[in-house]
Amino acid sequence: MGPRDELARPLRDLRLSVTDRCNFRCPHCMPRERFGADHAFLEREELLSFEELTRLTRVLVGLGVRKVRLTGGEPLLRRDLHRLVEGLAGLEGVADLALTTNASLLASQAERLAAAGLGRVTVSLDALDDPTFAMMADTRVPVATVLEGIEAAEAAGLGPVKVNAVVRRGRNEHAIEDLADWGRRTGRTVRFIEYMDVGATNGWRMDEVVPAEEILARLRRRFALEPVAAEAASEVAERWRHADGAAELGVIASVTRPFCRDCTRARVSAIGELYTCLFAAAGTDLRGPMRDGADDDQLAARVAAIWSGRRDRYSEQRAEGTPTHQKVEMSYIGG
Ligand code: SAM
Ligand code: SF4
Ligand code: SF4
Repeated sequence: MGPRDELARPLRDLRLSVTDRCNFRCPHCMPRERFGADHAFLEREELLSFEELTRLTRVLVGLGVRKVRLTGGEPLLRRDLHRLVEGLAGLEGVADLALTTNASLLASQAERLAAAGLGRVTVSLDALDDPTFAMMADTRVPVATVLEGIEAAEAAGLGPVKVNAVVRRGRNEHAIEDLADWGRRTGRTVRFIEYMDVGATNGWRMDEVVPAEEILARLRRRFALEPVAAEAASEVAERWRHADGAAELGVIASVTRPFCRDCTRARVSAIGELYTCLFAAAGTDLRGPMRDGADDDQLAARVAAIWSGRRDRYSEQRAEGTPTHQKVEMSYIGG
């Protein structure tokens, strides 16, 4: 059902960026030198309203979307986010409604997000010790606050929470074992993500990528692990399980083993541009037509036309050595 792109990939997943702002300054995402006090973030009226976001999602569900993830920037900075969740949870056809967050503000919001119909939460946490975490996230928020957010989410019924950790060479490699051990002790899935060349500001270098192969080798030296079969082709993580059954682990090899051929994701930026790849150079404005009175059929036709012409496979091209172009910031289009 719905359009297929030029590589026969359907549209199934939607990532909505609800704000370009963040209270952290992770150097791999929003380095402080580039996102300082003088950075011009979007004005409120530029952002898609909750009504616009819900309407757009309804139209995209009509084209095949089944999973919706709220992201950003830091989505919990968007005021009254639970109201948006309420609207999205009420849409027929959304099988999975999730949120990706740094969890710094999760403890106080978890209950109302759960009550509004949020399905689950993924938390980004790149280290368990405060000095490394402070360096990875460039924040004064302590790890304990993030852990409280995770616990609050689970207490509210949003668990089990999955944790994503970006691994950067020379910065948080020791967190690989720390986080895996924590996951095993607490029964939570931790997924390790290769550091990616998103955007144009993080000064990415291949030698700072710890390849998934190496992450796995480190994990297997320390823990007894067994592979877990993927449930769906579009799953991005390669899954493993502690042999004692205590928890799962994953590695997301976006750089060294790209998965573009199964990529069924679209992203909508906070101002309503549609991006068909995380590494796209440009998006297509959908807010303009919406505010100019386009009806749902016209919006659907516009999205279907874009999706049908989609050929993106940036990570595969990177792996083949044939990119590149100027890319948009991840905090802007939604990670
Ligand atoms: N602020 C929220 C958070 O951190 O969870 C949501 C947005 S953030 C852009 C989404 C995800 O992108 C996070 O898990 C973050 O670690 C990941 N990310 C950001 N920059 C990255 C990079 N250069 N390489 C790999 N993952 C990155
Ligand atoms: Fe903020 Fe998330 Fe980017 Fe870190 S990864 S700067 S928490 S948007
Ligand atoms: Fe999808 Fe683009 Fe990432 Fe490939 S590089 S998996 S097409 S978002």
